[in-house]
Amino acid sequence: MKVVIIAGGQGTRIRSVNSEVPKAMIPVAGKPIIEWEIEMAKRQGFEDFLIITGYLGEQIRAYLGNGERWGVKIEYYQEEQPLGTAGALGYLKDRLTEDFFVFYGDTIVDIDMQRMMDFHREREADATLFVHPNDHPYDSDIVDMAADGKVRGFFLKPHPEGFVSHNTVNASLFIFSPTVLERIEVGKKSHIEKNVLPRCLAEGLRLFGYNSPEYIKDMGTPDRYEAVGEDIRSGRVEKMNFKNSRKAVFLDRDGTINREVNLLDKAEKIELIEGAAEAIRRINKSGMLAIVVTNQPVIARNLCDFDELDRIHATLETRLGEEGAYVNAIYYCPHHPDSGYPEERKEYKIECECRKPKPGMLTRAAKEWNIDLSESYMIGDGKRDYEAGINAGVKRSIMIEQNAPNALLHAVEEILSGRNS
Ligand SMILES: [Mg+2]
Ligand SMILES: [Zn+2]
Repeated sequence: MKVVIIAGGQGTRIRSVNSEVPKAMIPVAGKPIIEWEIEMAKRQGFEDFLIITGYLGEQIRAYLGNGERWGVKIEYYQEEQPLGTAGALGYLKDRLTEDFFVFYGDTIVDIDMQRMMDFHREREADATLFVHPNDHPYDSDIVDMAADGKVRGFFLKPHPEGFVSHNTVNASLFIFSPTVLERIEVGKKSHIEKNVLPRCLAEGLRLFGYNSPEYIKDMGTPDRYEAVGEDIRSGRVEKMNFKNSRKAVFLDRDGTINREVNLLDKAEKIELIEGAAEAIRRINKSGMLAIVVTNQPVIARNLCDFDELDRIHATLETRLGEEGAYVNAIYYCPHHPDSGYPEERKEYKIECECRKPKPGMLTRAAKEWNIDLSESYMIGDGKRDYEAGINAGVKRSIMIEQNAPNALLHAVEEILSGRNS
């Protein structure tokens, strides 16, 4: 499978070199960004690169050559004139006849590429977009996805007043099938996120969001180079690869993050408990995953359908985003064991494996996110939450007072201080 690296675009003047270089050649932790990308892919067996160069492209060719030094094969396409992030791809239809990765040349990234490729193939996707939750969705372009990852729409900023959505955004890394290239007009300026993907979606192509907590950062400002360089040196970039297990804090929803109102059935009823967003922001900063596991018998009882539950969760993500926090995933159990009510949905009135205190949601999340349960935590306001944590084998299960201001924050502080000592 080929890896296309888009390394055109403007040059950047940096102090350490004291002349203009293309962004891909900016040294971070002692090496040009694009070299980190090539080495990361090579480690995983991807050895076939096609680099799109533009202004100052000769610097990239002079440095990387045919790739021999890295044990890889590199070909190039030199843009005659800048045609946006996608324009050059229009000329490459003959050279890209199978699925291929697309990286931007100014991104430090370390991902399990095989895992993303499997995701793409299992879904027979035309395009797979690497997405992640973002802590400022109100001023970001949102990728709106269904529960199975299928992309439903793109909400480009600026958003209208009172806008509510999930918090996933493009992280600027893709797998495309050749079908995508057919939607790029040759010789015309266009951008992947703004033009090509919306067109693919409108024309019925299968687009999927691949939600991942792995490390990916593009280079914006000089302090970003510093921070990213530090992340490389400290091992943080590599540690976040899906191949390595992660720690998580599992969180109950009602009564723990948002106010318990007894069977929350409408998005308008979501109200964050004081200190909850701050608590989750601290989990985000710590590098642990924040994963919600919630019993939602409102489905079995037919008080709320799946669309409304989706809106409830989008609202929760929006409220958290307003305060700079995000959760990595939300798992819910739609079941309830006691049947016999006239309005109920029979198919969900079952004895399942996911309803807390059973550990099903935690064990499933552990499998899907490569979480080490024995190093993870559960926090909730009920006995069922506490027991689900114990049954899943977490390191510590913590019960907090329902709807109490800052109760979640105190529990998270305790976890984080324990880790440091
Ligand atoms: Mg609760
Ligand atoms: Zn269930």
